[in-house]
Amino acid sequence: MSASLARESWDTGWPREIDYAQRGATDTVVVHHSAGPRDQSIEEIRSFHVDTRGWLDIGYHFVIRLGLLYTARPLYVIGAHCRHRNARSVGVCVLGDYSSSAPEPQDRRALLQLLAHLLELWPGAEILGHVEAQSDLTACPGRLLEGVREELPTTPGWRGYGVRPLLT
Ligand SMILES: [Zn+2]
Repeated sequence: MSASLARESWDTGWPREIDYAQRGATDTVVVHHSAGPRDQSIEEIRSFHVDTRGWLDIGYHFVIRLGLLYTARPLYVIGAHCRHRNARSVGVCVLGDYSSSAPEPQDRRALLQLLAHLLELWPGAEILGHVEAQSDLTACPGRLLEGVREELPTTPGWRGYGVRPLLT
């Protein structure tokens, strides 16, 4: 069972007053890699998205860092991670660069458990790599999803472990 951590654990400025747009339907989960170091700070990503890109908040709803799952942008608001798909999708980013290497087992396990949980919340949602959802732009998430979708039907989500999810 991977641990999950609330936003307060990485964002010393949380809660922030942000005028989010609520998301209506959710039919897709888009998976990203950061293409950077596995131990990059999440605050650094938030700062890049907000201060450099000019977005409302960190773009992703979840970040997996060194085998731990962190909540980021609130789950039920529109994210900023996949052009044309944000309005109906949840964005997940695993820190690290999987362009040529496979993910570490603990990161992969956390991703599987998160995706299984999201499928409990939105049964039938499609799990896509960023490049599959937005083919004009990117090779993200590299090899991160290799075999993952095949394993999902037999992976219990967080509820399956009897753990109250942080995620709802
Ligand atoms: Zn991406």
